[in-house]
Amino acid sequence: MSISLAPIHAALEHPLPLDQNCFDEVLAKAREKKGLSLRETALLLSISNPEWRSALFAEAGKIKDEIYGKRIVLFAPLYTSNRCINDCLYCGFRRANTALVRKSLTVEEVRRQAMQLEAMGHKRLLLVAGEHPKEAAATIIAQMVEAIYSSTDIRRLNVNCAPLSIDDFRILKDAQIGTYQLFQETYHPDTYAYLHPSGPKADYFNRLTAMDRAMEAGIDDVGLGVLFGLYDHPFEILALLEHARILEDRYGAGPHTVSVPRLKPAFESALTTVPYSIDDETFKQIVAVLRLAIPYTGLILSTRESAELRNELLHLGISQISAGSSTTPGGYRDGTEQAEDLETKGSQFYLEDHRSLPEVTLSIMEKGFIPSFCTACYRSGRTGEDFMALAKTGHIAQMCDPNALLTLQEYLLDYGDESLQKRGAAVIEQALTQLSEEKAERLRQGMERLRCGERDIYI
Ligand code: SAM
Ligand code: SF4
Repeated sequence: MSISLAPIHAALEHPLPLDQNCFDEVLAKAREKKGLSLRETALLLSISNPEWRSALFAEAGKIKDEIYGKRIVLFAPLYTSNRCINDCLYCGFRRANTALVRKSLTVEEVRRQAMQLEAMGHKRLLLVAGEHPKEAAATIIAQMVEAIYSSTDIRRLNVNCAPLSIDDFRILKDAQIGTYQLFQETYHPDTYAYLHPSGPKADYFNRLTAMDRAMEAGIDDVGLGVLFGLYDHPFEILALLEHARILEDRYGAGPHTVSVPRLKPAFESALTTVPYSIDDETFKQIVAVLRLAIPYTGLILSTRESAELRNELLHLGISQISAGSSTTPGGYRDGTEQAEDLETKGSQFYLEDHRSLPEVTLSIMEKGFIPSFCTACYRSGRTGEDFMALAKTGHIAQMCDPNALLTLQEYLLDYGDESLQKRGAAVIEQALTQLSEEKAERLRQGMERLRCGERDIYI
């Protein structure tokens, strides 16, 4: 697969008229939840009038609510290795960074990190690694996945690792990973070449075609992203939408998720400034526009952003967030010995939200949302094209709401302190009033089963 940049340039160079009529029409089209064209997306990205921005934000929040309800899915990254054979100028793990304290976890160490995350209450993890032919080989990742699934209560393992061959993707598929995530970083070829001077990642095309290989290997949930701040964001977003459209045309399902990482300072980064700095208002606009342009795609936000901004973005279309994260291999301390300077000199980049999982969970509820630890869809085979078909007809929402509430109840019972339990009970009671009598009754029975000690109940 290759992306033709011509339609992207055309949409940017021949914009729709920036007037009230056109803006209203684009918002009306977004309300149909069928996505937006490149030119319509470009129009929404170009607005700066505060009134229009408010209307855009309100629409994004509404569409998020209609499709996802109030659910916010929680996860944590698990870094397995910071050794890397690439030299991405913006990343602390880059090969030329000789000051970085390197560490590749063994399968057993990864399993213990997962247990540590499980003890925090997580059920869904994202395995992350630098690119390395041995230490982040597909066979090693698969062993880690198998070790975690077989000895912890972690229920979904997504993976963010370097592009693989079809055969290697099959190894990950056989190990039953959830989503395979890979960010193109920038879709702009010249910028890409400058920022990725050496190593396999210098091959733009190999990265661009990774999702085709993943899907051909049978991994039907894939996650796209760009690293915001590297190049002009309207170009990046239109290119990402083209990428998503091509995948949908070819494989029947577009990306399951899109992540919105924004460039952050990193230990000994080779970039001294952000090439295309994006302020918070623009970042909010990006999230809102993505929600309208690809309404059924999950939008993932990491702890790269501050707690305040993350809280605001919940209202603009984000559906999954990480919490309690570390970007250092071995960063979740479990009492075992660790090189002293790994903590300060072993991370990929610096985070802004350092709240614990319970703090994030409480804050989500205080903002009127429902924290969800649900992993049911993929374990019930609702992935790829099947997931999208169910999502578009509203069927997913009917399963997700009850499952979110059941997993929240389970989390509260196992990990909640008194204040969290009190707030959670109120959130669950309130949510039950929104369901039909029959559904609410079934859920109450499920909650009772959880209180009696049963676990992992889902629809
Ligand atoms: N090494 C693999 C790769 O590059 O695709 C997989 C994981 S890499 C550790 C995960 C992502 O971190 C990269 O795709 C990049 O977007 C992001 N990243 C790297 N440096 C960053 C920085 N300084 N700030 C924010 N995100 C960064
Ligand atoms: Fe390596 Fe990924 Fe960092 Fe690039 S972004 S240096 S590939 S870990």
